[in-house]
Amino acid sequence: MEAPGVGPPLVVLEDVDKHFGDLHVLQHVNLTVAKGEVVVVLGPSGSGKSTLCRVINRLETIGSGSITIDGERLPEEGRALANLRADVGMVFQSFNLFAHKTVLENVTLGPIKVRKVPAAQARERGLELLTRVGVESQADKYPAQLSGGQQQRVAIARALAMDPKVILFDEPTSALDPEMVNEVLDVMVGLAKGGMTMVVVTHEMGFARKAANRVVFMADGKIVEEGGPESFFTSPRTERAQDFLSKIL
Ligand code: ADP
Ligand code: MG
Repeated sequence: MEAPGVGPPLVVLEDVDKHFGDLHVLQHVNLTVAKGEVVVVLGPSGSGKSTLCRVINRLETIGSGSITIDGERLPEEGRALANLRADVGMVFQSFNLFAHKTVLENVTLGPIKVRKVPAAQARERGLELLTRVGVESQADKYPAQLSGGQQQRVAIARALAMDPKVILFDEPTSALDPEMVNEVLDVMVGLAKGGMTMVVVTHEMGFARKAANRVVFMADGKIVEEGGPESFFTSPRTERAQDFLSKIL
C-alpha cells in the first residue's frame, strides 16, 4: 500500500548496473521513488550510496539499465542534461558552495543562468528561501564566513531555488560539528513534511524515524533490504542489516 500523501513514480531505476573498472558498484539496482516520498538510504561505507545518488543526476554514467525522472529517460548531454540537473537537486556532505560568490548569489545563480529567471525576481525568491532556512541575515557574506551548519542550509536553499522535482542528499550532516547537525536536519524535516520528494543518504536514525516513508539498505552495491523505518529499525530481516544496525545504534 502507498504511504499517505505519496504520489506516482518520480524517480525510477530499473536494473541499473555500474562498474568502476573491475568493481561492480551498483548491481541490478531497482528503485522507485514516488512523488512526495522520502527515502532514506543506509549502508556501510563503500556500499554504493554516493554512486547511487550520482547516477540519478548523471554525475556518473551507468553501464546498463535505465533511469527515468518524471517519465523521462536521463539525457546524455547538452541542454537536456542541464535541464535534468535542474530538476534533480543535490546537497553534498561538503556543502560545495561557490566560494567566490555571496550567499545570495549562490542561491540566485542557477535560476538566472539555467532557468532564465530575471535577476530581481531571483533575488526576491532567493531571500525568501534564505529566510526559510534561517540564514537571511548572512545573504551578503561569503560562504567561508558562515558556520558549517549555515553553509549547508544555504546549500539546501540553493537546491530549492531551482524548483527541483527531487532533492538528493548525500550525508548532508556528516561533515558538521555535532551541535550543528540538528539545525540542518530540522530544515530537512520541514521539507519532508512540506511534500518534497527526497532521497537521503544519512546515518541519522532520528531523521529516518521522523521523516522517512521508506528505508533502503545497501550492501556491496545491492539493495539488500527495504521497508518502513519502524520495521527496519526494530526487526531488520537480513543478517547484513542486523549487523549494520548493531554497529550504529
Ligand atoms: P558509499 O557512498 O556507500 O560509501 P560509494 O558509492 O562512494 O559508496 O563507493 C562505492 C564503491 O565504489 C567503493 O568501493 C568506492 O571505492 C568505489 N568508487 C566510488 N567512486 C569511484 C570512482 N570514481 N572510481 C573508482 N572507484 C570508485
Ligand atoms: Mg558516500
